[in-house]
Parts: sequence; C-alpha cells; structure tokens
Amino acid sequence: MIKLPIFMDNHSTTRVDPRVLEAMLPYFMEEYGNAASTSHEFGRRAAAAVELARERIAAAIGAQAKEIIFTSGATEADNLAIKGVAAMSHKRGNHIITVATEHHAVLDPCKRLNREGFDVTFLPVDRLGIFGPDSVAQAITDRTILISVMAANNEMGTLAPIAAIGQIARRHAVPFHTDATQAVGKIPIDVEAMNIDLLSMSAHKMYGPKGVGALYVRRRPPVRLAPLFDGGGHERNMRSGTLPVPLIVGMGKACELAVAEMPTESARLLALREQLHQGLNARVEELTINGHPTERLPGNLNLSFAYVEGEALLMSMKDVAVSSGSACTSANPEPSYVLKAIGLPDDLAHASIRFGLGRFNTEEEVLHTIHCVADTVDRLRRMSAGWLNRGP
Ligand SMILES: *Cc1c(COP(=O)(O)O)cnc(C)c1O
Repeated sequence: MIKLPIFMDNHSTTRVDPRVLEAMLPYFMEEYGNAASTSHEFGRRAAAAVELARERIAAAIGAQAKEIIFTSGATEADNLAIKGVAAMSHKRGNHIITVATEHHAVLDPCKRLNREGFDVTFLPVDRLGIFGPDSVAQAITDRTILISVMAANNEMGTLAPIAAIGQIARRHAVPFHTDATQAVGKIPIDVEAMNIDLLSMSAHKMYGPKGVGALYVRRRPPVRLAPLFDGGGHERNMRSGTLPVPLIVGMGKACELAVAEMPTESARLLALREQLHQGLNARVEELTINGHPTERLPGNLNLSFAYVEGEALLMSMKDVAVSSGSACTSANPEPSYVLKAIGLPDDLAHASIRFGLGRFNTEEEVLHTIHCVADTVDRLRRMSAGWLNRGP
C-alpha cells in the first residue's frame, strides 16, 4: 500500500529522517542550554553537542570543524560568502564570475553588487546545461575577487566540473565559492581535493530540519569575510546570533547518515530514476530530457512533455507532488530562467516537470507515478489543439 500523494519534489525540500528527529529531540527539552554560555553545565553540554555536529558536517566535505560557520540556511550562506568577500576585497578588485543557471541565492547578491558597481560575468551554459572550465579561466582578470559556481543544479541536477574550476581558481589565487546545497550528501565533495575555499549547504535538502545551514570558510590559506550582521561575535565573528542547537544537532546527524549511506543510496536512486525515465519513455511520445543525460544528480529527472503545460499537468495530477520549472519561481508564470539558459524554447520550458527522487521514495511509488503521469499527459493531449493538429 502506498500513501498518497507521493512526494517526488526532493530538490525543494526533504522529509526529516526519523533518526535525525530522534537526535534533535533532547535539545528542545532537557538540553536547552545556550552553547555560548559555558560557565555552567547546560551551556557546556549544548556546546559539546554543537561541536560534535560541526565535526560531522566538516567530515562530510573533507574540512576541519573550525572551518564550519553555522547559518540559517544556504540562502544566508551564499549571501555571506558573496557579500562577505566583496566587502573585504575592494582593494584587490571588483570582478565576480558566476554562471547564468545559479540559484537566486547566488544570482541576486551578484546582481545587487553589480548595481553597486561590481563587474559580474554570468557565464553561459550549453544545451546540456554545462560549460567548460576553460570559460572560467578565460573570464578571470587581475580584478577578479571571487568565482562562484554551484556544484549541482537544483532544476536539472546538472553537475559542474568543480575540481577543474577549483584548480584554475587556486592557480590564479582567486577565492572559489560553490553552492553545494544539492550536492552535499548526494555526491562526493572534498574541499581539499577540489580546492574549494567557500561552500554553502543546507540541512533541509538532506533530510535534516529547515532553518539551518552552514558556510565552509577555508582557514589555510585564509578567506577573509565581512559579516552580514553585527552582534555577539559568534562563529569566528562571521555570524553573530545564538546557535539553534537542536537544528545544528539535526544537521550533524543528517550529514553523518548521508555520507554513510551515499554509495548504496546513490545507486538505488539512479536505478529508480532510470526506471521512471524508461517507464515514461515507453508510454509517452515526444518526451525529452532537460540537462545532461549522465552528468547529473542520481535523483534528478527533468522532462518536457511537448504540447502539455507543466502547470496544467501538476493541477490535474493529484497523486504526485512534483514541480514545474523551479519551485522557487513557480509563483512566477515566466518560463524557468535555467531552462531558458540551455536554449529551450518557451513552449518546451513551460512543458517541463522536475522529478526529485529521494530517500523515502520506493519502486512502487515510481510505478504509480509512471501510470499517473502517462495517463494525465494522454488526457491533456487529447484536449490540445496543438497536439491533435501537429504535423506528421
Ligand atoms: C534550496 C537551495 C538554496 C536555498 O537554501 P535554503 O537553505 O532554503 O536557504 C540555495 N541553493 C540551492 C542550490 C538550493 O537548492
């Protein structure tokens, strides 16, 4: 028996793993100390729990515990990385390199800095959503102060050549930031091997709680960051504010689980994705995949169903929760800027659906989804003049 509706929107958020919730619960009730008030036992126990979480999070990305700065999520981590570097770098330069398909949490701070006088290069991507590391190398000038490239795209799951970009950034001594919110815990990430200087992540994309994230900030060679707000000087003076101990404990547990289970879980998700894709392909004509066929997150499948409005498909399909375009812009009727950036025509961008498979999805759910989607597409196409009058 499967429970309806089926949640297949795991790039927008994820369910908290019961093991994560269990780890968090004591920190709401008995263990309610302030991790900065260590003059007594309550504070010391809270501080110890935070430090254990910090170690687990650092271990998940090959970092040192001291290099983890807690934030309210990836949006804040991205803002802190980009604005924090920009504020410290006015003597060195005023040029930032990023990519057209980044999340709004990276694009919008870059656009704000652009309005304030910074030069920003938004690198284009090709039809598959990728770009060569050479294009980063060519964009670097002696005024470049930051390179920001996401590790895995939240709409198409496309993976960027992070290690190659890290090498280029290091060779030019330009700090390298990556928004790895969709990547951490899903694919291997190592800040040392990949020469990453700043890395954003978020607990709620990896079966942890909403409202907590982290920015990795390299200590050797050090990256200097101005804080976004002033206060008690927590987190190496980079992020003031009392730490949300229960959320941080949950994020630590979520990282530990994701890393331990990554080999088996990524293989399982890849098999489910292939099953979903092949099942839909067998039943639906004129189905196209958006993004790279193989260089993508194991749980991501982004498809366009020609002649069917993605929004109409969502509305007529009560059993499956997926998103059309990006969840973050779905209030906005414009086709997704990410799909536009790969050169997808507006009609196919409007006909796109993002399937995000996650830890709690099962094979039965995939089979049910194939039936629901194929039936709904059939039904909608039979009412579509465009479909009925299409050429041979
Ligand atoms: C979800 C997401 C964010 C925003 O994360 P929050 O923790 O919700 O602020 C940023 N970047 C990417 C790539 C994301 O997928």
